[in-house]
Amino acid sequence: MEKERNPRAAKRPRKKVCMFCADRVEKIDYKDLAKLRKCMTDRAKILPRRVTGTCAYHQRELTAAIKRARYIALLPYVSD
Ligand SMILES: [Zn+2]
Repeated sequence: MEKERNPRAAKRPRKKVCMFCADRVEKIDYKDLAKLRKCMTDRAKILPRRVTGTCAYHQRELTAAIKRARYIALLPYVSD
């Protein structure tokens, strides 16, 4: 039996645009925790590109920024 598709139940059917490109951010600030947190799960894991829609360049920048922030204890490595 085929699973029924419910388009309204889809998580995010909208076209995703990289939020950093939209803001014309070139270098992601590791001190900008509000923005970094948006790209993390509640368990402090970095969300994959396919979820956030972040472009390849900014995903790299974001990962580096989050790791930097973790290193100086601005963000947790794990949390629950
Ligand atoms: Zn981007």
